[in-house]
Amino acid sequence: MFSRLFVSLNNLLTRLRRIKVSPENLLLLVPRCLQRTGCAQTLGEIIDDCNACGQCGVTDLLAIRDEFGIHCSMAAGGREALAFVRDPKIKAVVAVACEKELAQGILAVFPMPVLGVLNIQTNGPCRNTQINPDLVREAVRSMLKD
Ligand code: SF4
Repeated sequence: MFSRLFVSLNNLLTRLRRIKVSPENLLLLVPRCLQRTGCAQTLGEIIDDCNACGQCGVTDLLAIRDEFGIHCSMAAGGREALAFVRDPKIKAVVAVACEKELAQGILAVFPMPVLGVLNIQTNGPCRNTQINPDLVREAVRSMLKD
């Protein structure tokens, strides 16, 4: 509960900062649990080896990444996520995760501007999680220069 409130407050403050970056400076960061269990594709840091079959949210991520020309990385854990965020070209982040991971990640990369989008856990935590592509798209759009 505290983590969810923290993420909401962070998002409000980040939006008030009116951060606007170019697509090449924006990272969409997502967790590996978004990939469907049993999918035969091996997705590395970038998710290009996804076949966009539509059976999990990675299809939507690819579409959003290519629609806006932003970076998109899939992290196995906090350490890997931090490494992606610390790339010098990254100036702002839209992160998708559970509330606890989001809260920890936002604190870890402060003062990097981060908009957090909660994932959907209809199958329980850390397994076949889902995204609301409309929320992700809106968060990305809000951080990009016109
Ligand atoms: S969209 Fe299909 S190919 Fe891509 S990661 Fe999900 S299940 Fe695998």
